[in-house]
Amino acid sequence: MVKRRKTKKVGVGQVIIGSSAPVVIQSMTKVPTVDIARCVRQINQLVKAGCRLVRIAVPTRADTTAFAKIVRKVNVPLIADVHFSPMRAIEAIEAGAAKVRLNPGNIKKRESILRIIDAAKMHKTAIRIGVNEASIRDLKKQAIPIEKRIALMLKEMKKYVRLFENRKFDQLVLSAKSSDVLRTIEINRSIADTFDYPIHLGLTHAGLPEDAQIPSAVALGTLLAEGIGDTIRVSAAANPIIETEIAKQILISLGLYKRSEPELIVCPMCARAGIDITRLAGLVEKALLAIDKPLRVAVMGCVVNGPGEAADADLAVCAAKNKGYLYRKGRKISTVPESKIIPTLMKELKKL
Ligand code: SF4
Repeated sequence: MVKRRKTKKVGVGQVIIGSSAPVVIQSMTKVPTVDIARCVRQINQLVKAGCRLVRIAVPTRADTTAFAKIVRKVNVPLIADVHFSPMRAIEAIEAGAAKVRLNPGNIKKRESILRIIDAAKMHKTAIRIGVNEASIRDLKKQAIPIEKRIALMLKEMKKYVRLFENRKFDQLVLSAKSSDVLRTIEINRSIADTFDYPIHLGLTHAGLPEDAQIPSAVALGTLLAEGIGDTIRVSAAANPIIETEIAKQILISLGLYKRSEPELIVCPMCARAGIDITRLAGLVEKALLAIDKPLRVAVMGCVVNGPGEAADADLAVCAAKNKGYLYRKGRKISTVPESKIIPTLMKELKKL
């Protein structure tokens, strides 16, 4: 079991982030915020896919006006994504944002940040403060050499946290973003060692889904396995449902997400496979769409290793030539011809 890092707990609407609270999946809407109907539709799809927080960009006044309407139409806490304008942050807070994502480095005046903090305090809005590797510059606005960036990002974060704490604000979530896997791991470890606020994990500019999922899984998975990370977002140039699915898979692989649907385990296949396992697994996967329980089902190619490797499956099929052996929790329950494997499996699944 992953031992989660002890942190302060931060309330984002009805969702709690931090410590032993479940790691929260979030994603962002990718339709214009002013298109309220499409935005609401995408938010509802994200919730159905497993998001418990949804972030929306509000770059203009029209967006925060739309944000206020969207908040009233959905049943999930919304995060306003603000970059440069303190006014947008305050408008979003007044519009009902449960959390605001802010990069204080992008807001020039200290007074403006203090006004945002005061508004957040008044409306019980959480704030995620972020430092981004790409925006770390020296005093002459020159890019910083790689080896110095982690230290500077941490220094920057300390400065922001101090500003919020001096204003007696502690509903903070911290994030440090990089597009590099190793630096993402390193900076988040440093932040976890330094602060006891919940951490938002993500890898920026991760690419198309096929390019994004492995780097994201390595960076986020490494940190989560160490107990670091309280809310995650996988970034991919794709429909946010795909981001959510990848995030869910990362959490499931670490035992950090309680699935509600069946899990299908398939052996990697070798020359011992008694029948076409890819075809059989495809048929089982299709059949499992009708089941809405978190059952573990295994499809194994042979009886040499299959029964042992599938011993903790609720149901397993281990193939032999033209037939299949069915196992329930590691115990053999029947032998059926290949044509009867799927109907028998479904019958047994229904019993469970
Ligand atoms: S279960 Fe059997 S067929 Fe599948 S990989 Fe293992 S040994 Fe090979």
